[in-house]
Amino acid sequence: MKKILALTLLTIGTSIHAQDLGKDIAAVESKVVEWRRDIHQNPELSNREFKTAEKIASHLKSLGIEVQTGVAHTGVVGILKGNKPGKVVGLRADIDALPVAERNDLPFKSNVTSEFLGKEVGVMHACGHDTHTAILMGVAEVLSKNKDKIKGTVKFIFQPAEEGPPPGEEGGAKLMVKEGVLTNPDVDAIFGLHINSQTPINTIKYKPGGALASAQRFVINVKGKQTHGSQPWAGVDPILISSKIIDGLQTIISRETELTNEAAVISVGKITSGVRFNIIPESAELIGTIRTLDYDMQKKLNNRMLEMVPAIAKAYGGDADIEITTSTAITFNDLDLTSKMVPSLEKAAGKENVSIHKAVTGAEDFSYFQEKVPGLFFILGGMAPGTTESFPHHTPDFKIDDSGLLLGVKAMTQLTLDYLNM
Ligand SMILES: [Zn+2]
Ligand SMILES: [Zn+2]
Repeated sequence: MKKILALTLLTIGTSIHAQDLGKDIAAVESKVVEWRRDIHQNPELSNREFKTAEKIASHLKSLGIEVQTGVAHTGVVGILKGNKPGKVVGLRADIDALPVAERNDLPFKSNVTSEFLGKEVGVMHACGHDTHTAILMGVAEVLSKNKDKIKGTVKFIFQPAEEGPPPGEEGGAKLMVKEGVLTNPDVDAIFGLHINSQTPINTIKYKPGGALASAQRFVINVKGKQTHGSQPWAGVDPILISSKIIDGLQTIISRETELTNEAAVISVGKITSGVRFNIIPESAELIGTIRTLDYDMQKKLNNRMLEMVPAIAKAYGGDADIEITTSTAITFNDLDLTSKMVPSLEKAAGKENVSIHKAVTGAEDFSYFQEKVPGLFFILGGMAPGTTESFPHHTPDFKIDDSGLLLGVKAMTQLTLDYLNM
């Protein structure tokens, strides 16, 4: 009896509910909204997040958190040690904006312009990374006030250039990992979220396993033999060969890929060839993208493309080579970690507000952290109640409702406390 009682007390003692931090979480909401609006109004492009980084760093310092700046160019990393030793959890927020001119009529609308690839462009937080930044700043404030409840260490990772660094530069999660963000102290697990403009506020969605796709880029060079347009028999037509290659690539998807396991996409996005109507040109170039959610499928698909492209060209008397480069890995939610952490999401949002989403064929560079340590990346609702028209991410009308941010703070805080107490 004594033993049972002691055990019960122990369990109660180690289970911390974000509700216990209710006051601290509620107190931070208006600040999170204020930070979000400020960051929204002052967006900065990938690898140029100088002022955003300054704001984050000074906030973390004001909380007494140990801060590293200049990580992967403009990244900020905060380390908060709890009062008791334990595991290390990484929490990530991306901080960059996009070359999009905002069309919303908001009091905190962005009117910022900047140079991008030699052109003057409007800049906007058109993917909602302003909300991610503000949410994580809020989580840092709540947790720093509750160090006595933290068994272990929390690493706050504010990541630049999720949308991709400018051409010729390195950046994003990949560079952060390369610079050792997951080491010293070594991160045991990592959590991240993405706000979504078409998911209702106060709801969370997740998917175990492949959640967001890997993005690969391919370039195919087809070589034919130039001739007069009226005498095709005197040459080899690279345009015709290109059409056979495109056809072949689509049969890899429709006839060879087990689409009931996971989605997969091959799209040719650009074809360049020829100069005028009566010349069959010498060559053609095809550029496209491959999206996969499973590493075995990706390997199989890549191998078949490497085999098929030169073979098709050869069959029609020409030559072709193909180069595939990976720009983003698969955002793969560790199965064990996901099943352990779903109850924390449910505690934060209410069980009825947490559901599984379909695979997303878009990509997210959070995947590079997940290549190294188990991670969970989930979707947070950002669509205002009663909204009928909701614009997708990366568009000038993209909008996120502030009232959805509090759940982000709650969920990240709950995941952190629960994981460190497991
Ligand atoms: Zn985006
Ligand atoms: Zn994004």
